Amino acid sequence: MLQKGAIAVHGGIYKDEIPDIEETLIKACETGLDFLSSGNAVDAVEEAVKILEDDPHLNAGTGSYPNLLGEVEMSASIMKDDLSCGGVAGIKAIRHPISVARGVMEKTPHVLLVGEGANLFARLLGFESYNPVSELTVKTLKNSLKKAANEQNSIYAYYLEQARKKLKDLGLGTVGAVVLDNTGHLAAGTSTGGIEMQLPGRVGDSPIPGCGTYACRFGAVSMTGEGEGIIKLGLARRIAEWMETLSPQEAVNRGMEMAKEWNVTCGAIAINARGEFGWGQNGGNLSFAYLTVASEQPLLFKRL
Ligand code: ASP
Repeated sequence: MLQKGAIAVHGGIYKDEIPDIEETLIKACETGLDFLSSGNAVDAVEEAVKILEDDPHLNAGTGSYPNLLGEVEMSASIMKDDLSCGGVAGIKAIRHPISVARGVMEKTPHVLLVGEGANLFARLLGFESYNPVSELTVKTLKNSLKKAANEQNSIYAYYLEQARKKLKDLGLGTVGAVVLDNTGHLAAGTSTGGIEMQLPGRVGDSPIPGCGTYACRFGAVSMTGEGEGIIKLGLARRIAEWMETLSPQEAVNRGMEMAKEWNVTCGAIAINARGEFGWGQNGGNLSFAYLTVASEQPLLFKRL
């Protein structure tokens, strides 16, 4: 019987209404907690994020946003409170980027693998080729192309021409999880398809430890929002370290204020070594769920 353990997950930040992803968030929390009985915080993070990556409404794994060439390039990272971590960026044709990120953490001396190197590594680990394109991907690409057509920046003309050739007929919703396990260990993970209208090769905060994901002995954090700004501020690490003296809620609030001062729209979930939870956004609506071993029902964004 588990004595302690808590998990929180997010499904990204939305400018307007949050799509119908409640069930997926709850399932991700419940699956994560189930894994705590036989595993540890990292197993729980990986399994919860895999559920989120499989929901085509969410911008990670299946359903990821395509870049301006119409290709899906995904990113993910995972981190433990002993600072071991791994990430992949610009990975293609993979169902669960979070699992490949875990492979980088556990099977290599490196922290981050990108592009072709990440793809090759995934195949060597035995991950099969998978097509993550969904209806949402197609809708997003059409939308991106419309927006890019109005872009004054001439660089977009090249991408538009290439993408139009590809687009026959071919939501922000990055995902993440933070976990405290029964033995008191913390872990965090984040997975994304990136942002709308991203240039091929663009890498955001999600695969970078310290930016989109961080875990240390004080707390674990997963971020969503404007990746470029989150990288510049190194936000996940700041929020995690502030939990040495602040509650998760106070630490997240401080992070959101700091990001606002720099005009960075973002959201975060955080958990500390006591399993206390904090969440926040400084614009838009953050989707999340939080469940502890002791709670009967998950805390959900809509019920607040
Ligand atoms: N932070 C992600 C990125 O910049 C996007 C998101 O969270 O929606 O790639």
